[in-house]
Amino acid sequence: MKLIERGDDLRGVLDEARADARSVGFVPTMGSFHAGHRSLMQAARAARHLVVVSVFVNPTQFEPGEDFERYPRDPERDAAICEAEGVDVLFAPAIDEMYGARPVVTVHVAELTEGLCGVSRPHHFHGVATVVTKLLALVGPCAAYFGRKDFQQLVVVRRLASELHLPVEVVGCPLVREPDGLAMSTRNAYLEPGQRRAATVIYRALRHGVDAVLEGQRDPATLRRLVAKAITVEPEVRLEYAEVVRAGDLGHLEVLEGDVLVAVAARVGPSRLIDNVTIEVHGDRVDYDLGVIAADPTTPAAGAGAPAATR
Ligand code: AMP
Repeated sequence: MKLIERGDDLRGVLDEARADARSVGFVPTMGSFHAGHRSLMQAARAARHLVVVSVFVNPTQFEPGEDFERYPRDPERDAAICEAEGVDVLFAPAIDEMYGARPVVTVHVAELTEGLCGVSRPHHFHGVATVVTKLLALVGPCAAYFGRKDFQQLVVVRRLASELHLPVEVVGCPLVREPDGLAMSTRNAYLEPGQRRAATVIYRALRHGVDAVLEGQRDPATLRRLVAKAITVEPEVRLEYAEVVRAGDLGHLEVLEGDVLVAVAARVGPSRLIDNVTIEVHGDRVDYDLGVIAADPTTPAAGAGAPAATR
């Protein structure tokens, strides 16, 4: 595996690969890998000749006062995990390499970034859109792999790629969970044991919402209320939002029909956690996707495993 820190060096390596007609799969991350990240690497590895992973804790996607400085960083462990997953290139640029001394260009995606997490994090998705555009320009991959855990981000990046006519396939990969259902997140590391236990209420609330739809609930506002209520029974978990929207464009729903996203954000201790389930409703037929339980959440070589619940 090559560790590359400079954009020019990366371009050289990837130009060579493309000249040999080798397809490039790209996984952008902020590092401190868990099984969710590894599942993206595995998806890229299975489908592409050359796999590039970037690790860049992007300052522009943190709101003022958020955890940019203390965000976990572990470059040695990350490199070992990339090796174990058969990654070809680990790109780990410095901030200057990505932004230069005085950046004047940003990428704004309207509408899709205004609801859900955009309400409490008004700058976040512009930072994401800007850095993802820069990374896609540097790497020039055939396909880029994103987790459905950050569902709004996935919708934003899909739209960004299609509206800017970027020649890249945006692949959405399953949300990976801990054995007790908590969505894997780098920020879970901030939780104390009691908070960590309390956080599992989020997964149970989403399952509760799915059960209601399976039992015939078709009113988005009622579904939203019952998911919210199921979370607020846990005093350690402060709900930020529970929303029920169209999965494709995060738009308003009058009735539960088609592809539906139930998305939640909550604060637990020092962490802000997000989670979601997608539900496909076609009349009486209901399919849902709560993601997968990590086969082995502790060892670096293992990846995503059994479905958390999909039918
Ligand atoms: P991050 O390093 O947190 O910025 O995430 C990098 C990529 O990993 C994004 O595409 C995330 O959606 C994805 N990711 C993070 N956590 C999970 C998870 N639990 N399951 C699946 N993908 C994830």
